[in-house]
Amino acid sequence: MKVIAGNWKMNLTLNEAIDLAISIKTSNKNEIILFPPSIYALKIKELLKDKNIKIGVQNVFYEEFGAFTGEISAPMVKSCNLDYVLIGHSERRKFFYETDEVINKKIKKALSFNLNVILCVGETLSERESKKHFEVVKRQVLSAIEGIDNFKNLKIAYEPVWAIGTGVNAKPEDANEMHHFIKEIINLYVLYGGSVNENNAYSLLSQHYIDGLLIGNSSLKKEAFNKIIDIAELF
Ligand code: PEP
Repeated sequence: MKVIAGNWKMNLTLNEAIDLAISIKTSNKNEIILFPPSIYALKIKELLKDKNIKIGVQNVFYEEFGAFTGEISAPMVKSCNLDYVLIGHSERRKFFYETDEVINKKIKKALSFNLNVILCVGETLSERESKKHFEVVKRQVLSAIEGIDNFKNLKIAYEPVWAIGTGVNAKPEDANEMHHFIKEIINLYVLYGGSVNENNAYSLLSQHYIDGLLIGNSSLKKEAFNKIIDIAELF
């Protein structure tokens, strides 16, 4: 089974989001996940309730309830019957100063509420250029899973920061090498993310250790995203 996930980030009005959501194809063999802005997630979950498409949010806080203005929590997400949460996306690390420690607390909380979690990891360009990418990703993975003993609901997305939103995807062989490395640390589903589109999806999914794709920009275009869902059917 391949996993094809769309991260819509902070994009689309409600009507645009509904229009996109209802146009997404389903799959009998692969898992399709959408991560709309959280304010739309419940509405989209209800609209797609008869379709085999999972819905998630792009972030949760590590506390359950209380005076944390602007945040949403794992029990809230669970109470909306949502399926997934993304944790540790590089944009959260960069713009919202999320540390490895915070990410570990968020994962623990989300898993304790039986949410499925996709942990995002990946090195920056300077880290790759200085050949620290394996070391960085290993640190991110090990710190994220510290103190966790049940990994049933955890997946990882390898998203090199230099490939996100840049139009420059990692070479499939390089991504494969990193996925292999991650699976030797912990053998979970590992998705690739970073400038995936309908033209490079096949070569990425052909790699032995690439179990799926986490897609930003191309998930906002219904034709492109549906094409990628079709391509994943070939595996
Ligand atoms: C992402 O944000 O998770 C991502 C991979 O974005 P893009 O596909 O636009 O590079």
